[in-house]
Amino acid sequence: MGVLFVLVIWLGSIVLCVKMAQARDREPVLWGVLGATFGIFAILLLALIGPGSPSPTGITRNAKMRKCPACAEFIKVEAIKCRYCGTAIEPAVA
Ligand SMILES: [Zn+2]
Repeated sequence: MGVLFVLVIWLGSIVLCVKMAQARDREPVLWGVLGATFGIFAILLLALIGPGSPSPTGITRNAKMRKCPACAEFIKVEAIKCRYCGTAIEPAVA
C-alpha cells in the first residue's frame, strides 16, 4: 500500500489509455497524457466516446501518416510521391 500502490494504478491507467486509444484509432500519445492526468476518468471518457472520428483539429496525425522530408506536410505512409510538393519519396518499410 501507499506510494507504490498509487504509482502502479497511475501507470496502469496510462497503459490502458494508450491501448484503448490505439484500439479505437485515436491518438495514443494524447490519451496517454490524459490517462496520466485524469487516471480512471480518462479511461471512462475513452470508453464513452467510442471509436475514433476525425480529430477536432482536422489534422490526421495517426500512425498511418508520416512527414514529407521536403515540405514537412503529413502524407500517407504508403505514398511514394508527396501530394503537396510532388517529391518522390522512398516507400516506407513495413
Ligand atoms: Zn512534400
